[in-house]
Amino acid sequence: MVDSERLLAATRRLGFRPTEDPSLADLLVVNTCAFILPAATEAVDVILDAAGRRKPGARLAVVGCLASRYGEELAKNLPEADLVMPPKDYRGFVSAVGAFFPESPARAAGVVSGGVSGDALGGVSGDVLNGVAGAGALFPGDFETWERDRGGTPPWRAWLKIAEGCDNSCAYCLIPRLRGRLKVRPLSELAAEAESLARSGVRELTLVAQDLTAWREGKNNLADLVERLGEIEGLVWIRLMYAYPERLGKKLVKRLAAVPKVAAYLDVPIQHASPDVLGAMGRGAAAPLPLVENLREWWPGVALRTTLMVGFPGETERDYQLLREFMERARFDQAGVFVFSPEEGTRAALMPGRVPGGVGRSRRRGLMSLQKKISLAANRARVGREVLVLVEGPSADSDLVMTGRADFQAPEVDGLIIFDGHQPLPGRMVRARLLKAGPYDLAASFDPDGPAVTG
Ligand code: SF4
Repeated sequence: MVDSERLLAATRRLGFRPTEDPSLADLLVVNTCAFILPAATEAVDVILDAAGRRKPGARLAVVGCLASRYGEELAKNLPEADLVMPPKDYRGFVSAVGAFFPESPARAAGVVSGGVSGDALGGVSGDVLNGVAGAGALFPGDFETWERDRGGTPPWRAWLKIAEGCDNSCAYCLIPRLRGRLKVRPLSELAAEAESLARSGVRELTLVAQDLTAWREGKNNLADLVERLGEIEGLVWIRLMYAYPERLGKKLVKRLAAVPKVAAYLDVPIQHASPDVLGAMGRGAAAPLPLVENLREWWPGVALRTTLMVGFPGETERDYQLLREFMERARFDQAGVFVFSPEEGTRAALMPGRVPGGVGRSRRRGLMSLQKKISLAANRARVGREVLVLVEGPSADSDLVMTGRADFQAPEVDGLIIFDGHQPLPGRMVRARLLKAGPYDLAASFDPDGPAVTG
């Protein structure tokens, strides 16, 4: 989404303006995901759909991880695409697109994200703002420093990408190959971007990277970065996603927990609890329960989310039972469970002991149903509390019912707060009393005369 927002800004600088309707667009950009085959397949469907709907003469650019994964093969097999560009080449995006429209960049364009979490961003359209050459000069540096057009997220929340790529080498994962080696963004650059986002009305800033804990600049680590971001006026929550478990030491976690604006929430992808499976995954074989217990001690009240994988090659019934026992004891607030996918080009795809697909899916169902009970219990324990809620907008079921999120609910992956009674306005931060709990969502009431919440 962050990349899409930068590409959207680049197309605007080229003179395009957004359009919701692909059939009106002169330029369609599909930003793709391809870290597993189902995502790549979905991305291809989005590309073909966009190609089928474009008007005569419109150009189609395919960018993102699908382009990294299949490169020239993709360009050869997808004649519908006028441009295939992996993330490592984004600096050339402005000139490549500009070359399609040498005369008049006053065109309409659509930028969509394709893949498992693909969302339509809408598009870009408008009168000529700058000539193509001028626009190129406005995007001289590293892609990560390009400005963003906030087309894909509401104005009150944003993702801040603090690094790109990954130096870990988990046996099942293609991401280091798709996104390259770890490249951290400097603290000063991140602080400036966060300040600009806060000035534009962002109240919740979610830090993302393949692995947040890998961020380092000289003597500064993730805690130094978060402490600096915590000084920014206007931000109310700073949320941390994707913290690799091995580097979550006591000192780091305690410092993070002490920053008042940091949401009491941590997404720690544990993946498995069996030392044998963790070892085969290349993720270190330490049993993860002590870490979870420590996290709760070092950061009282923290809500923990995790990701787990079942069906990894060689996973036995005993390994699976170890994972179940771990989940029962770790009691994560939320968990996502995935079935191993053998991705060509990874070490795990060549490993013996492939677990039958049906067994993997049944283990996944077993863990998800166990987690549902655990999440319900965690939410029930919250009933009666007063919490801060960022109001997100009407519920998917009814325009009359407003939803929001508390600090223990991350955007787009966790449950919601459903307002009962008075309905606050989207974008407001309000205090609400939790009334009733389900496994994912909670009902809450708020007092419209209560004090305003400021960052
Ligand atoms: S830490 Fe995450 S992104 Fe990096 S190799 Fe492992 S699973 Fe992939």
